[in-house]
Amino acid sequence: MKRIYLDYAATTPVHPDVLNAMLPYFTDNFGNPSSIHSYGLEAREAIEKARGNVASLINARSDEIVFTSGGTEADNFALQGVCFANESKGNHIITTAIEHHAILETCKFLEKKDFHVTYLPVDKYGMVAPADVKKAITPKTVLISVMHANNEVGTIQPLAEIGRIARDAGVYFHTDAVQTFGHIPVDVNELGVNLLSVSAHKLYGPKGIGALYIRKGTRIATFMHGGGQEGGRRAGTENVPGIVGFGKAAEIARREMAEEAARLTVLKDKFIAELQERIDNIHLNGHPTERLPNNINISVSYVEGEAMLLNLDMQGIYASTGSACSSGNLEPSHVLIATGCSHEQAHGSLRFTLGKWTTEEELQNVLDVLPGIVKKLRTMSPLIKK
Ligand code: PLP
Repeated sequence: MKRIYLDYAATTPVHPDVLNAMLPYFTDNFGNPSSIHSYGLEAREAIEKARGNVASLINARSDEIVFTSGGTEADNFALQGVCFANESKGNHIITTAIEHHAILETCKFLEKKDFHVTYLPVDKYGMVAPADVKKAITPKTVLISVMHANNEVGTIQPLAEIGRIARDAGVYFHTDAVQTFGHIPVDVNELGVNLLSVSAHKLYGPKGIGALYIRKGTRIATFMHGGGQEGGRRAGTENVPGIVGFGKAAEIARREMAEEAARLTVLKDKFIAELQERIDNIHLNGHPTERLPNNINISVSYVEGEAMLLNLDMQGIYASTGSACSSGNLEPSHVLIATGCSHEQAHGSLRFTLGKWTTEEELQNVLDVLPGIVKKLRTMSPLIKK
């Protein structure tokens, strides 16, 4: 059976060119970048080249990029680093109800440390209102953190507008750009951000490597204490193969991103239209137009997302019911609940995220199979009035 992977927002396979770029750094070029002999210098050079590639994809300077162990660490670093370094100014953070758990759980942690957090609501499309951000700012606000695009429903937030509000108020602005970096244009100056989190495994790079962009001049506490790596901001011997792979993935994305986004947008729009034609009582979650080119999130009335997922899995089709982190969790998605979905609708959600190796034929296969699965599950559903 041909396997059809449609969960690219959870993670992506490593691009063959990325793997090839990484391999020598496990074997021949294994040096510690802090060593001053040639092995060390070769590793150091490779890291700096990768840093340049990551920086140029977001229009940043190389010295504004700090490598981390992934998106989760970058989010933790941004929030804790800014809050702890600016405690004398205030203890208030503004974020949204639809952030990734890496942000929400860090906020909970900071609440235990006497920080006060405002969780902004979103509209039915999962969109934050810049006016709400403005209203929430107090003299004690030290940080605003709003994600660039949501991992579950794909809605792209009006960051540039929020960036202007943050700058006018003199408040640091962070965004979790894990789902947009390498997929749609991300420019730290256009968005007006001081900090931005990214992760390699969402753009055909390896897992366990990411970065935090820190605008020059941002007051931020060291996150990992130890040696003087990463300009003294993140200690620990660098993950050289991971960093090299990340740099390569960024280089490829820079070259291919525009064309790939256009290709996926066509596939996505056609797939949504066909789903709506073939299955009754479905609802598109997220924004109809301001959404990631690869994201399709639907709620199917009267059936459980998990049941659809398992039935699709049996047919060799791999999708998701929400974020991978909360799959297997019986709580309905906090993102869908924030958009005003009922618990029943949230439980009936299904997310397909397309990627580099997704073809029209694969999507056709899903369209051939899914209506039958829904029909079968609906005949067994206690939720449907028969
Ligand atoms: N933020 C968002 C929006 C994500 O989608 C993810 C990954 O699922 C993360 C953060 C966490 O990134 P990582 O898996 O690199 O820790």
